[in-house]
Amino acid sequence: MSDIVQDGKIVQFHYTLKNDAGELIDSSRGGDPLSYLHGAGNIVPGLERQLAGCEVGDKLDATVPPGEGYGERLGEGPQPVPRDAFPEEFPLQPGMQFVAQSPDGERFPLWVTRIEGDEVYVDRNHPLAGETLHFDVEITGLRQATEQELAHGHPHGPDDHHE
Ligand code: ZN
Repeated sequence: MSDIVQDGKIVQFHYTLKNDAGELIDSSRGGDPLSYLHGAGNIVPGLERQLAGCEVGDKLDATVPPGEGYGERLGEGPQPVPRDAFPEEFPLQPGMQFVAQSPDGERFPLWVTRIEGDEVYVDRNHPLAGETLHFDVEITGLRQATEQELAHGHPHGPDDHHE
């Protein structure tokens, strides 16, 4: 079997992510590369699709539209919530994500967009929703996933993680 990125492989890569305006959003360079289990939805679908078939050492520029990235921006945008609706010790800051629960028990992620006085603005959209993503990627490692990693649907580090 040739060693290419395909389902069931743990892939390591360095990346730099920019938005359409060319602004730096995130980068792994200068730190540890990112690891993911291919085929398990660990990374945005458009990037996972474009990495398929790559080999170690391959470099690519992958452009990912919102529909294959963090989705289109939906809804009415950030909504204010009183600060005291959050636990006192909650370290609120812009960009943080938490899971909320609706009255009928549906759980969904929310992101804090800004804090103004006693009001915390929260949004159901991922901060990168609506953005076309530009990834500059280099594949740095590739191995077969273990049975346990396949069962869990994510990679395990050298000293095994667990949350
Ligand atoms: Zn696990």
